[in-house]
Amino acid sequence: MYSQEIQEAEIVDALLNDRRFDFKDKGEYLRKGICPSCNKKELFVRKRQPWQVKCSREGNCQYEETTRNLLPELFTNYSERFPKTKENPHATADAYLAHNRHFDLGKIKGSYQQEAWRDTDTGEYCDTIRFYLDDKKSRYWERLIDKSKGNGQRANFGGQRKEDGSVYRGDVWMPAGMKIAKGDQIWIVEGIFHAIALMHAGKKAVAAFSCNNFPENLINQHKKKDVTWVIALDNEPAGRKYSKKHIQKLKAINEACAVALAPPEKDSGDWDDLYRAGKLNDKFFELCFYRAQLFMAESPEEKAYFYYLHNQRRQFVLDYGNAIYSFKKGAEVDDALAGDKKEGDGEAVDIKSNEGKELFIKYVEIDRISNCTPRVSLSAGRRHSRRAEIRISSGLLQRRTGRTGGVRRQQLGKPQLLQ
Ligand SMILES: [Zn+2]
Repeated sequence: MYSQEIQEAEIVDALLNDRRFDFKDKGEYLRKGICPSCNKKELFVRKRQPWQVKCSREGNCQYEETTRNLLPELFTNYSERFPKTKENPHATADAYLAHNRHFDLGKIKGSYQQEAWRDTDTGEYCDTIRFYLDDKKSRYWERLIDKSKGNGQRANFGGQRKEDGSVYRGDVWMPAGMKIAKGDQIWIVEGIFHAIALMHAGKKAVAAFSCNNFPENLINQHKKKDVTWVIALDNEPAGRKYSKKHIQKLKAINEACAVALAPPEKDSGDWDDLYRAGKLNDKFFELCFYRAQLFMAESPEEKAYFYYLHNQRRQFVLDYGNAIYSFKKGAEVDDALAGDKKEGDGEAVDIKSNEGKELFIKYVEIDRISNCTPRVSLSAGRRHSRRAEIRISSGLLQRRTGRTGGVRRQQLGKPQLLQ
């Protein structure tokens, strides 16, 4: 039988016996482990829910890694270690979802079942976790456990195709028992495990399988119910492109909508990686909306507005399109918000209101600094003409020099470096 306690004990034992770290058992924690990044004896991990190993030299080192990545052998072989039984025909799927994905089985009961996929080349079977897409259980997506297909894929679609020849076009997978009510916020993500991860973080989420699948059947079914559709596709080029397309379609039918962008996938993984790393909280989601506002802004001024709301700086530099701009929230914006620009008795306007946004955009001082793309090269250094790269991110210009490879953050004088 699987149980979380057994798995936790297994991980703690494996870490204690791992010569790479040389951990000491200290009550609720393992401590004094050797950090693979800075080599200091500063590594620690909690014994309950030991999913994340961290270096305690926080400001200096910042190393953290999942035990899932450090001890991959403990996160495989589910079919062998937890075979299905007469009492529990879903035992392998349960173990995989609880151990490997850290999902609470109580929350996803009834959403899946254990099945098997047959490799037609070898004739071998592989256990799968199957999620049906319709009530009739005619179409499904399944995740292979322990094995992958010849092409490296671990996912499989199957069942009867729809009349349009597709398995899921226009549709989504929804967790068992989830209801969409008036005023709900519904997150639309790509993968089923992403939706389940967000569900664990308190969101109502559905999976559309692919960034280019606009779930029109679901949306038509719940139109005019005051639902806010949150497009939360993967933060990579295709996901970003289709976020814009989906929002266009939702605006065209007057549905409330927003985009949430997780940090770039290459840096921190997708929604279920973030869930396992314990990152999904309100503050994190707020940043996802902010990141998306900057990305979705339809003009440099609109981008500046969202940047200002978040950072409250009166003067800053931002890139937009292929150009760089400087902004100043000067007296004109202040006067407009104070009501001085209106006829008669002007009343103060909340900058967060629609009117406040319009006034900010109208009166913010904007200067185009450069028409170049945000990557520029220039020679730096006296003896060798080294190429240096300037990166522009949210108002901070960074110079990366070729010799050290390190990034020196500095505020650079704006125009002279860009000439
Ligand atoms: Zn360290």
